[in-house]
Amino acid sequence: MHSSSVLTRCSVALFVALLVQFTACTSSAEADTAPPPPTKHATALAVSETILAPASDQSLFCLPDNPGCAKITQPWWALRNENQPRDLVGFAFAPGLISERRFAEAVVLLYQVPEGRDLITQAAAQHIHVIGVAASDLADGVADPVAAYFPAQHLVAIAEPNASLSIVILADFLSHEFRHVADFAAGVDTDDSYPACIDREVRARQTEQRYLADLVVRFGKWPSPGRVGDQLGQTDQSFFASLRYLAADSPAQLYRDTVDDYGLGCSQHGG
Ligand SMILES: [Zn+2]
Repeated sequence: MHSSSVLTRCSVALFVALLVQFTACTSSAEADTAPPPPTKHATALAVSETILAPASDQSLFCLPDNPGCAKITQPWWALRNENQPRDLVGFAFAPGLISERRFAEAVVLLYQVPEGRDLITQAAAQHIHVIGVAASDLADGVADPVAAYFPAQHLVAIAEPNASLSIVILADFLSHEFRHVADFAAGVDTDDSYPACIDREVRARQTEQRYLADLVVRFGKWPSPGRVGDQLGQTDQSFFASLRYLAADSPAQLYRDTVDDYGLGCSQHGG
C-alpha cells in the first residue's frame, strides 16, 4: 500500500529546499546508515503554534477551527480536517517533531496509542517534519504512492491526494512511516538487500495492525465499506477496506501480501 520508504529523490530534496534551505541531493538513503543527528534545519523551522498533549486518550483530538469538529453526530472514523491548513505546528509532547497543521490531528491520535507514543517520541528525537507533497514527487515508478520516509531529509511525506483523508487513515500512514524512522535510527534492517527491505515493510505493517487493534478497542467497530462510502469519498472507502483486510491478516498472509506489494520495488532499489 505504501510507497517504498527509504528512497531519496532529488525532486523531494528540492521541494524541501524551499522549506528548509536544503541544497544537497542524495541518490540513496541507504548510504546514510548512521542515525541522522539533530540538524539545524528542522529546529529552525518556524511554527505558528505548539499543540498541547490531549486531555484524554479516550476521545479524538480536533483542531478548534476544523469545521468537522462541530459535527457531533459524525462517527469517529469519519473525522477529517476540512480546512487543510498548511502552516507548520510543533507539539509540546514531542519537541522536534513538526507537521503541517492539517496532519496535527493524526499526530495526536497516534500519540494516544501506547506504541504510537513511543514512535512519536523517536520521530521527535530525529527532528522529523511531516508535509504533503505532489504524488509525482513520490512516484518513482510506484503506482499510486501513499507516503514515504526520507531519512537524509528528516522527512515523512504524504502524497497530496491523500492529505485530506480521514484522520484515522492518516494516523495509520504515520504509524507505518514512523516505524521506519525508529528502525532506521536503531539500525534495524537498514541495508540495501531485498530481505531487509521486505522485513522493514513487514515490521511497518505489523505496527499498523497494532494501531488498528488499539483503535477499535477504544472507539468501536471498524466501519463497513458501505458506511464509509456514505460518509466519505471513494479514496477513503478504498483505504478503509484495505486496512480492514490488513487488520485481520495472519502473520503468514501479511508476509505474502508484503512480498506481493513491495517485492518489485525491493528488488529494484532495496526498498
Ligand atoms: Zn514502508
